[in-house]
Amino acid sequence: MDKTQAPKPIDILSLSRTALTELVQKTDAPFRAKQIWRWFWKHGIRSFDEMSNVPESLRTRLAEECEIRQLEPVEQQRAADGTIKFLFRLASDRHVETVLIPDFGREGRPSRMTVCVSSQVGCAMGCSFCATGLMGFQQNLTSGEIVEQIQRATTVAKESYDSPITNVVFMGMGEPLLNYDAVLDAIEKLTAEDAMAMAARRITVSTVGLATRIRQLADDATRFNLAVSLHSPFDSKRSSIMPVNRKAKTDLTALMESIQYYTDKTGQSVTYEYCMFSGFNDTVADAKELAKLVRKAPSKVNLIMYNPVEGLGFSKSDEETLNAFISQLVAERVIVTVRRSRGQDIDAACGQLAVQNQTM
Ligand code: SF4
Repeated sequence: MDKTQAPKPIDILSLSRTALTELVQKTDAPFRAKQIWRWFWKHGIRSFDEMSNVPESLRTRLAEECEIRQLEPVEQQRAADGTIKFLFRLASDRHVETVLIPDFGREGRPSRMTVCVSSQVGCAMGCSFCATGLMGFQQNLTSGEIVEQIQRATTVAKESYDSPITNVVFMGMGEPLLNYDAVLDAIEKLTAEDAMAMAARRITVSTVGLATRIRQLADDATRFNLAVSLHSPFDSKRSSIMPVNRKAKTDLTALMESIQYYTDKTGQSVTYEYCMFSGFNDTVADAKELAKLVRKAPSKVNLIMYNPVEGLGFSKSDEETLNAFISQLVAERVIVTVRRSRGQDIDAACGQLAVQNQTM
């Protein structure tokens, strides 16, 4: 190795509060780190020059040692229902997707403005109904890259709908609990009073159901919402579409035990995501078994109308089947919501845009 090689610049937006403080403390008082933190995460500033209350000597040192890596917008698609999908290029030259989903109230004003963010490029989980799963795992995103997706979407929500972001969901590309530290650090940047000051209950992390990580969330006393992708109450069926279920450590038994641990320890309920696949998991018998399973812990079930991905062989259930499924769950006293697919006239199923643009 060439010893004269200059050290790599520090990716300052990826630093946690603690790591930023350590960096600043090498030459300056810790309160300077607080000032820099606020510039980045409260005011969205992306240049050291604009940090007017930070001494010039510190700004110069940071500019020499660090880089401010930003997402590069590549593409933006807008659907007829107002959903906006973004494609960003990372410093690595790979691409990620972010989706802005407005819900409109009676007077046509947005009543809710949700951003769906990615936490990884590609995904190792390989669910057979998912476009991102086709890519395999490519890389983790840093906390800076995760929060920047929301900051960029915030600007567009303001310009297009004159609305702030009301909700953030980690349901884009990747399995967030496999990028645990960066995701929790991103949530600190979203929720801290001296950063973006968003309420934790407005944030949902959706997981394929990694039992040990769900226990870790409980031990870390996280306050955001947890959603778990279930898609079938039967081990054999779930395993056939979600490879994660084939391992004893993460099968349905292990998963349900971890959820019970989580709800007991945190006092929070969980949401089960259940994608309705025609002829696969949408019968009344499926609904009965699902009700039995989810009653084990405080929860609700969110039924998702699948947004088909070409070539994967799944289609969405029809309305009649959906209604029979809902009736059965309601009869069994399960709390049910239905999520309709959004942005159907653009490439809106997670991962579709990035699959088309991936760098090989
Ligand atoms: S559904 Fe989620 S966990 Fe499964 S492959 Fe797709 S991104 Fe990964």
